[in-house]
Amino acid sequence: MEQLQNNITEDIVQSFKNIVGIDNFFADEESLLHYAHDETETLSFKPHVVLKPGSAQQVSEVLKICNEYKIPVTPRGAGTGLSGGALPHLGGVVISTEKFNKILDIDERNLQVTTEPGVITEVLQTTVAEKGLFIRQILQVKGPVLLVAILLKTAADHALLNMAWLKIMC
Ligand SMILES: Cc1cc2nc3c(=O)[nH]c(=O)nc-3n(C[C@H](O)[C@H](O)[C@H](O)COP(=O)(O)OP(=O)(O)OC[C@H]3O[C@@H](n4cnc5c(N)ncnc54)[C@H](O)[C@@H]3O)c2cc1C
Repeated sequence: MEQLQNNITEDIVQSFKNIVGIDNFFADEESLLHYAHDETETLSFKPHVVLKPGSAQQVSEVLKICNEYKIPVTPRGAGTGLSGGALPHLGGVVISTEKFNKILDIDERNLQVTTEPGVITEVLQTTVAEKGLFIRQILQVKGPVLLVAILLKTAADHALLNMAWLKIMC
């Protein structure tokens, strides 16, 4: 694990800062501890850095570097998962999707919503409710759960077919 984390040299750190901007780069102890865990019992694995990209282009540039230098990457939504999916157990980079929080289009005629992947599910529910609509599959979800993670989880439950009209733009 230490070997992998040591792949992140000062040059790479500087590249990450250039890509996402200094305000979206985190390597302070408090941030690393926060992103070291999700809601999975007591497990905790500190990443080396946390990045909050604001565009697909930025994600792509970060991933190219991580791929080249074999740096582990853990994507993260709101960190409310209960099965450890967002735990950076190999260290490396956590990519938070918090900034991908825009609802891009609500097509009432075709009952289709287009969002970025970091939209908080409850916000989407509230927004479509204002138009007299609801999302059957995620009615129960409260709090800061991000939409993409619900889809990933639901897909794992083989229930995604019922949500085929939910289109996610990453
Ligand atoms: C109090 C509480 C109540 C809960 N109630 C429910 C419930 O009623 N129903 C339910 O289904 N679940 C529930 N959960 C579990 C949890 O909320 C869900 O698993 C939810 O889908 C996690 O969303 P998240 O945004 O926090 O994802 P995270 O925990 O951050 O991530 C979950 C997984 O998705 C991956 N991921 C996240 N974003 C991306 C991305 N953009 N691209 C690729 N991969 C990504 C992560 O790597 C990880 O593997 C509950 C959890 C808590 C703590």
